[in-house]
Amino acid sequence: MFCSNCGEKLPENAYFCFKCGVITSHGVEAGAAYPWRWDKEVQKALSTAAQEVEKAFNNLRENINQSIKRETVSCPQCGEKNQPDSTFCHNCGKKLN
Ligand SMILES: [Zn+2]
Ligand SMILES: [Zn+2]
Repeated sequence: MFCSNCGEKLPENAYFCFKCGVITSHGVEAGAAYPWRWDKEVQKALSTAAQEVEKAFNNLRENINQSIKRETVSCPQCGEKNQPDSTFCHNCGKKLN
């Protein structure tokens, strides 16, 4: 078997020319991908991973924003700051909104 591009003599089972990197007819038959295809797959996987990280980061940031939004409730009677979900003031027992 000879390389169709550079004419180098290649082993019969070679998928690619070891000299110029061109895929051989044997490689085409075997469905071997070009080396650059592998790069693209890696890039795709990396960008997918990056998107996952960004999504997780956005979720985290949203959670932080929500916890900041949960402000304490000031008692209208004594001014004591109560937990956001309080029904009654923990200091004086006044009903909160
Ligand atoms: Zn070659
Ligand atoms: Zn109170």
